[in-house]
Amino acid sequence: MSQYNILPVEEAFAIIRSVVRPLDPERVETAAADGRILAEDVSSTENVPPFRASTVDGFAVVADDPARSKHVVQEITAGALAGPTLLIGTAARIMTGAPLPDGADAVVMIEDTHQEDGSVVLDHTVKHGENVRPIGIDVARGDVALRRGAVLNNAELGLLMTLGYTQVQCFRRPVVAVLSTGDELVEPWEDVPLGSIRDSNRYALMAAIREAGGVPLSLGHARDDRDLQTQLLREGVEQADVLITSGGVSVGDRDYIKPALEELGKVHFGRIAFRPGMPLTFAEVGRALVFGLPGNPVSSLVTFEVFVRPTLRSLQGDPHPLRPRVEVELEHEFQLGGSRLEYHRVIARWADGRLLARSTGSQISSRLLSMAGHNALAIIPMGNGVVRAGERLPAILTGPILSE
Ligand code: AMP
Ligand code: MG
Repeated sequence: MSQYNILPVEEAFAIIRSVVRPLDPERVETAAADGRILAEDVSSTENVPPFRASTVDGFAVVADDPARSKHVVQEITAGALAGPTLLIGTAARIMTGAPLPDGADAVVMIEDTHQEDGSVVLDHTVKHGENVRPIGIDVARGDVALRRGAVLNNAELGLLMTLGYTQVQCFRRPVVAVLSTGDELVEPWEDVPLGSIRDSNRYALMAAIREAGGVPLSLGHARDDRDLQTQLLREGVEQADVLITSGGVSVGDRDYIKPALEELGKVHFGRIAFRPGMPLTFAEVGRALVFGLPGNPVSSLVTFEVFVRPTLRSLQGDPHPLRPRVEVELEHEFQLGGSRLEYHRVIARWADGRLLARSTGSQISSRLLSMAGHNALAIIPMGNGVVRAGERLPAILTGPILSE
């Protein structure tokens, strides 16, 4: 029997949250900062645009000028400087993005003009400010353009470049070491003797770490030898912010991860009321957080998704570390989770304005096919009996919703 009490899932979340702090910021090249999280407020030192710019190809004019026909006295292309002050009765040919000359206060689209005797004639009256981007209309000098905690996606990255920030302070990405355990494991490209299996968890977990913004570090796979595993854990925590193990956390005769972690540091919990992955173990060793994930491929990936991923997001300073939560309508009956909260792999899809969910089939924890193609985890309450088709349950979105 395990010495560990079975902890309610909410308590496990609370314990993890209580020990996670964002990592220190570091200076990074903006060009390579996509997906990173900003560790500073970024204010603009400039007005964007810094000059009055035309938004169209056309003619810059004096709006109050009553003359419809104007002599074209200059041409201003994007990147060029404007010529002398524009006078009544004249116009400047101007391109999109080019600066207006002094005196001009509107631009008429070329489509709203015609040529006559070498002059340009406006087809309509002009309003002051028409087709002009005033100084600072996009971003004004001194404005906070992005705040600490902003995720640098495409637009944010472009904005930083607009403002000339070619380097910014971002939270460091966590280095996440991964160690597989099990006498039965071989590398996926090796021959598989009878009784052995390929180590798939380490590769799936390293992909999941990258997706979460972490930097995976493979520690290979270890035989079920307590001294060896203890030594590898000791070395692993020196090199990483987070260490993830797979396998060896149950009550088998050769499950050594829990006792090894007790020897090296503090084990916060060793069992949770969760399916799949009751033996999930969480510890701190030195400055590293350690997650002992169960060996079954589904259990390791689902516990990663639910417990480790938010941790990696928080370490990177993400103020919203959790995946989006939605409510799904069940397409068929589901069994309640018994004594454990169940995170059931489902396929969520939009149909007639409803978010429907159906199971990926058998949920046994060895069956990775129950995860392939899933895009949500429906949270099935504890208890006996069923939740009927048509009822609603909360779910975590792990991928894009399918639409018709
Ligand atoms: P354990 O948690 O060590 O008792 O392992 C539970 C089940 O998961 C066993 O059937 C193992 O063979 C399997 N397993 C353990 N580690 C891995 C791994 N790295 N890749 C694939 N399956 C694994
Ligand atoms: Mg094992």
